[in-house]
Amino acid sequence: LDSSPPETLVDGSALVARSLARAGVQHMFGVVGIPVTAVATRAVAFGVHFLAFHNEQSAGYAASAYGYLTGRPGVFLTVSGPGCVHGLAGLSNAATNTWPAVMISGSCDQADFGKGDFQELDQMAAVKPFVKHAAKATHVTQIPRLVREVLGVAVAGRPGGCYLDLPADVLHQTIPESEAARVLSEAENPRFQEIRYEGSLDIEKAVSLLRHAERPLIVFGKGAAFARAENSLKKLIETTGIPFLPTPMGKGLMPDTHALAATAARSLAIGHCDVALVVGARLNWLLHFGEPPRWSKDVKFILVDISKEEIDLRKPYLGLVGDARRVLDLINEEVKDDPFCLGRSHPWVQAISKKEKENVAKMEAQLAKEVVPFNFFTPMRIIRDAILAEGSPAPILVSEGANTMDVGRAVLVQNEPRTRLDAGTWGTMGVGLGYCIAAAVASPGRLVVAVEGDSGFGFSAMEVETLVRYQLTVVVIVFNNGGVYGGDRRSADEITGPYKSDPAPTSFVPGAAYHTLMEAFGGKGYLVGTPQELKSALAESFSARKPAVINVIVDPYAGAESGRLQHKN
Ligand code: ADP
Repeated sequence: LDSSPPETLVDGSALVARSLARAGVQHMFGVVGIPVTAVATRAVAFGVHFLAFHNEQSAGYAASAYGYLTGRPGVFLTVSGPGCVHGLAGLSNAATNTWPAVMISGSCDQADFGKGDFQELDQMAAVKPFVKHAAKATHVTQIPRLVREVLGVAVAGRPGGCYLDLPADVLHQTIPESEAARVLSEAENPRFQEIRYEGSLDIEKAVSLLRHAERPLIVFGKGAAFARAENSLKKLIETTGIPFLPTPMGKGLMPDTHALAATAARSLAIGHCDVALVVGARLNWLLHFGEPPRWSKDVKFILVDISKEEIDLRKPYLGLVGDARRVLDLINEEVKDDPFCLGRSHPWVQAISKKEKENVAKMEAQLAKEVVPFNFFTPMRIIRDAILAEGSPAPILVSEGANTMDVGRAVLVQNEPRTRLDAGTWGTMGVGLGYCIAAAVASPGRLVVAVEGDSGFGFSAMEVETLVRYQLTVVVIVFNNGGVYGGDRRSADEITGPYKSDPAPTSFVPGAAYHTLMEAFGGKGYLVGTPQELKSALAESFSARKPAVINVIVDPYAGAESGRLQHKN
């Protein structure tokens, strides 16, 4: 008779938790419920910091931004069926921004699928349009391997979203500890090592194009930020003296205040450059597709991107497929052998610098006026100065809204890399609170400042409770102008039809007390309407480094419809 004690059994939930912990996952975002509650509690037991949200959508947004900020996939957990559907928002946001994220969802029991089970959905089919890779565990022993697989694929090559489907019965299956240990260690034979996606790199040609250009420009985006290419970029820009233009989230890779910045001379820079080196930024709507009339029809593009498909799509004059930092290092090496520098007196550099100075002066004149009731500029200037006064490390800025984001992009200054998170490539509104939570956990102790329109804030406002629960260093500033683009601004003759007593579709309750939402959970709320009130709320909340909402009352007539995208509405 065998008298040894029976071996401990390990269930699927515990195996997920152990697999994540062993793969180095430090944080997981999500919403618990059937059948994944035990995944979260076990993950915590194995040392994964679980951030519990109110809505999977925000958790997914958090995971995607976490992936961007840390370079490691952001992981989020959802319940089955509707939870998975809410999570698609996060997955799609990761896909469109090319950020690494992994959604892990519970799903209904395999044996009951097709019979109308609780929260039944073909989740593999649902996620398909939004992922690089989706995997489903049909047996508990597959879990460790599949966890590694989705984490690896999410960051390999062009980053993106991956999905892991865990049926309830698989989470409940058990295996003996010895077998669990075996499948865990087998999964660690790295099948998905970092893959170097690199085509043939004609570095010499790239450098020759830049060297012989009359009006060269270096454009960089959030792909360069993801690649941590800031030092290589700085070296190239400063040795060659070529002016540069960041995309909105590229802002900060080079200081906005740098002498070669063309941010405030954007139209001139893109309209007149003859060679543009574009690093980690797509020639999509944000860059006017690289086409006339915004760009010159003769511009020669040199595109640097990790994705060969991206280069094939744009058909640039020269494509360099590879990691931004590595390609820039190779370019720097090539330049070093035969250095060139435009110099301050170069006509192109002078033209850009003159335009930049003129436009900056115009903006400063606008910002110098103290307008009360607030327009968008007066509070934005006060916020800019308060953020700059924080010094280094600079606060991470989260920005969304139409007018609030547009004005913020022009006014707020980014001097450090990866300090700006906004609505991004997809123009996603509602990302703000999730991004704040991601930024705060990715950089513990660092101040996170969200500058949000009231509409953007409203999408995920309940997550202020999450800020309080985890005591995150986040100050949310709400530009409250009473609606989407503004309050109810219709003239009497526009108000017709059977529902004419309804408020305008663009409007919210005027003067909403958003600050009390934060107070409801024990955080700090401020209601401000004057420069002095705003300054003191910022000073107090920034130094407290505790969750706060500053409700800034803005003139409901101040904002333009659709911000700067009126032609698309
Ligand atoms: P932005 O919004 O700043 O213009 P995009 O999101 O349009 O930037 O473009 C980012 C690009 O960067 C994507 O095409 C993506 O494939 C690319 N990319 C991602 N990681 C890297 C990397 N490590 N090196 C080079 N390019 C990268």
